[in-house]
Amino acid sequence: MVAVRMKDDILKKYHEGKLAHAFLLETNDMKRCYTDVLDLIKNINCPHTYSDDCKLECNLCSLIDSDSLPSLITINPDGQFIKRDQVSNLMNEFSTVPVFTKYNVYIINEAHRLNNESANALLKFLEEPEDNILGFYITNNKENVISTIRSRCQLYYNNYGDDSFIIDDDILIDVKLYLNSIYKNSEDLLYNKTHMSGFYKDRTEWEMFFNTMLYYLKECYNNKRNDKIKLVEEIDKDKIIKVILLIEDVLRYIRSNGNIDLILDRFVIEMREYYE
Ligand SMILES: [Zn+2]
Repeated sequence: MVAVRMKDDILKKYHEGKLAHAFLLETNDMKRCYTDVLDLIKNINCPHTYSDDCKLECNLCSLIDSDSLPSLITINPDGQFIKRDQVSNLMNEFSTVPVFTKYNVYIINEAHRLNNESANALLKFLEEPEDNILGFYITNNKENVISTIRSRCQLYYNNYGDDSFIIDDDILIDVKLYLNSIYKNSEDLLYNKTHMSGFYKDRTEWEMFFNTMLYYLKECYNNKRNDKIKLVEEIDKDKIIKVILLIEDVLRYIRSNGNIDLILDRFVIEMREYYE
């Protein structure tokens, strides 16, 4: 969902001639993110008007699909880490300008598995960028990516959801009340917590509650709702992304048997920080 924005945004910058040369993509689904990056590369390089079924007729797009385009190199971890040799090979391959495409593109899957040696080798690309080289670093946690890499990339969040999730209207009413009571910093909050504990008794129900919140906010973010609460209208989009990441964190805690009371309190405390 949000990922569509990542693609749109990078394409827009491409058409404006303002494309960065390296991107760090944090995502909850690295495989889907990788597919999205391939799509993006087809879109940029395709000599025809790119479409989903381009590969049927288009040589370039089908080369990308079969991973046999020389100007596109994907690096996956070799065991625990991405090794220096893998990076050195990449540097050799990309020492000449691409012939059939505008860019030489490299994709680093699981960028948090770059160790010091391999990361240092990559720094040349990042510190002395060449116009015809693009790099995509995919990770499930940007905090685990070596900081010299992280700080030199443009960051995107790519959170994929379960497209089949359907928001339950009754739960949504509770979600909105709850979010509003946090937002207003009101007395209702304590009331709401006690009140809701009557309805949401077990872990599965709380999971449903926070999932509803997650999908509601994602749809708001993507401008797919006309019932936005004040909170969504008033805080900026970057903060909505942070709230979405926080809710995903909360869901992980709930699923890993965390104490529900503590989770709720922590959620309120962190949410209030975003409003200030
Ligand atoms: Zn094509």
